Amino acid sequence: MLSFREAFEKRPLMRAGNERLSANFSLTELTKSDLAVRHGIDNSPDISVIANLRQVAEHILEPIRDHFSIPFSPNSGYRCLELNRLLKSPDTSQHVTGQAVDIEVPCVSNIDLASWIVDHLPFDQLILEFHTPGEPDSGWVHCSFVAEGQRGDVLTFTRAGYMKGLIA
Ligand SMILES: [Zn+2]
Repeated sequence: MLSFREAFEKRPLMRAGNERLSANFSLTELTKSDLAVRHGIDNSPDISVIANLRQVAEHILEPIRDHFSIPFSPNSGYRCLELNRLLKSPDTSQHVTGQAVDIEVPCVSNIDLASWIVDHLPFDQLILEFHTPGEPDSGWVHCSFVAEGQRGDVLTFTRAGYMKGLIA
């Protein structure tokens, strides 16, 4: 039998409207998915996912927003397992726990964004994904944050697979 606290933490979130996670980022923008809507998938986060998304917003998204002074909204944040599988992403993806975001900042190349994060922020794993050398806007930056035991792992992912470090 679940304790009250466990039951509370596992309860599905009621439609929370535009709940704010941090000064510039809302729960809605970190859970929205056109694909989920198209497939009738309920991508509502539970309370533990919301807590993780708040950490990502405070420790990753806000410092990026402050530094570049450019508004942006993540391409992808939380993905429930069903949505994540639809995207052919592994079940172990940190998007499933609300610990990862995929981002691009207008007018900033993805390699510059990735390099700035690596040099200035604490993070668990950063992956420069689907970046084509010579095309600054190609791909996006995947970045995760965990409360404890951050790995500071830096990878580049292309159609050829994973490589260590940032490969521009
Ligand atoms: Zn990602």
